[in-house]
Amino acid sequence: MMRRRHQLPVPPHSLDLPSHKQRTRDLPIEPAPLFDRLRLPLSLYGGGQARPCVNPGEHVLGGEVVAVADDGSGLQLHAPTSGRIVGADGWRGSHDLQVLEIAVDGEDCAAQHTPLPQWQDLDPALLLQHLQAAGVVGAGGARFPAATKLAQAAAHGIDCLIINAAECEPHLTADERLLTERSAAVIEGVRVLAHLAGAGRVIVAIEDDKPTAIAALEAALAGSDIELRILPRFYPSGSERQLVTLLTGREIPSGRLPLHLGVLCHNVATAWAAGRAIVHGEPLTRRIVTVTGIAVNRPGNLEVRLGTTIGDLLTDRGLDREQLREIRLGGPLTGRRIDDFNTPVGAGSPCVLAAGDGEGMPTGVEQPCIRCGACAEVCPAQLQPQLLHRFARAGDLDSAREHGLSDCIECGACAWVCPSRIPLVADYRQAKADIARADTARAEAEHARLRHERRQARLAREREAAETARKARLKRVGAVVARARSRTTDP
Ligand code: SF4
Ligand code: SF4
Repeated sequence: MMRRRHQLPVPPHSLDLPSHKQRTRDLPIEPAPLFDRLRLPLSLYGGGQARPCVNPGEHVLGGEVVAVADDGSGLQLHAPTSGRIVGADGWRGSHDLQVLEIAVDGEDCAAQHTPLPQWQDLDPALLLQHLQAAGVVGAGGARFPAATKLAQAAAHGIDCLIINAAECEPHLTADERLLTERSAAVIEGVRVLAHLAGAGRVIVAIEDDKPTAIAALEAALAGSDIELRILPRFYPSGSERQLVTLLTGREIPSGRLPLHLGVLCHNVATAWAAGRAIVHGEPLTRRIVTVTGIAVNRPGNLEVRLGTTIGDLLTDRGLDREQLREIRLGGPLTGRRIDDFNTPVGAGSPCVLAAGDGEGMPTGVEQPCIRCGACAEVCPAQLQPQLLHRFARAGDLDSAREHGLSDCIECGACAWVCPSRIPLVADYRQAKADIARADTARAEAEHARLRHERRQARLAREREAAETARKARLKRVGAVVARARSRTTDP
């Protein structure tokens, strides 16, 4: 047995944030009500899109496939409960389909599942297919397909799987409750992930401010060779780069990923979902969400169907509009501000924060940068956030790229400490989106250039072939004429 319960040091470039977790950390997970409608998000990781495979008016059962990723990855989305398809729409004016709306029938009838309890005996390729078809994506926020990440890890030959249970952002207690109440199911999922990734070493990492979850984990890990590592409380302890360095001593160079250094990281809720999908055959249709903030009368940790709207959820928990300053989906630092109550909870939404005064990201009128350097002191990626901000605002994308914009994990630590209240992360997201657009345009232009060159080369070949054929024809005609002449001049 290799269980270690190490306490690790707080690294430099980190923040000590007020916790706010006490409001929900002792509240057991409750099922959220089944509301009249669900708005299942169709947007996928990296700007991808799922296309509905059902028609308006069609009746579906819970767990039935309703949309398929259009990138050919095999990722599928499933109806979170039974009901009638209302339609798909371009949510918030987007041209792309954003949500598939389901009128819930209240019966909660489920389709037949295909559990694979003997998964250890099955071909990993088949298990990966099953995981992809179940729609399991990263629950930490990024929503990268779990099966794709596992296949990449297996191809790179990783030796270490890290299960990230740090949950370092203030207010969030969804993972903590999941571990406290369902640690055996989480560890079942961890074993599935380790098997598929081919990882010889498995570490579960958790912050030391979660003693109940740690105790539950220790019980679930009894007799196991999975290591338990206890992190000090700091922000962002859940950042993959910091976690990998802290736990393995391996530094991830700029532009590289943990798997390039033989490490794969998965969120603890992803592990739970993977176990449910493989061992029990349940597709991803729900997740644990912390609903909290001063402006919520009944905060809690809820098991929520994907597609439940923020408005339904907050109204049910007693939204106090007098106190409400902003709503954030996904936590005060890394989450995004939500102004539309129709916004649905998705697979990467661990928290709905109805923030009152003093909660959420510090706000105020933006002032010019005073070059105090506070942002650089807390940046876990050791970037120069003030420089990135300057390049991003000036549209100097090349300089932003050269200064490591792609290494920014959008943790929000820089914006949190900025005395000038500059929305730094929003600037970085915009610059990254501009870079992605420019890269796509460049790739398309390159593709068009190559296509044009290939066409020109084909036309040149055809011209040359036609010329060769013409000359051969002339030669043959010349020979015939010569033979005819020689016959007429013969005595
Ligand atoms: S913390 Fe804000 S004001 Fe200070 S250097 Fe960074 S961006 Fe400028
Ligand atoms: S958001 Fe990016 S630049 Fe700001 S502290 Fe986090 S990693 Fe650094």
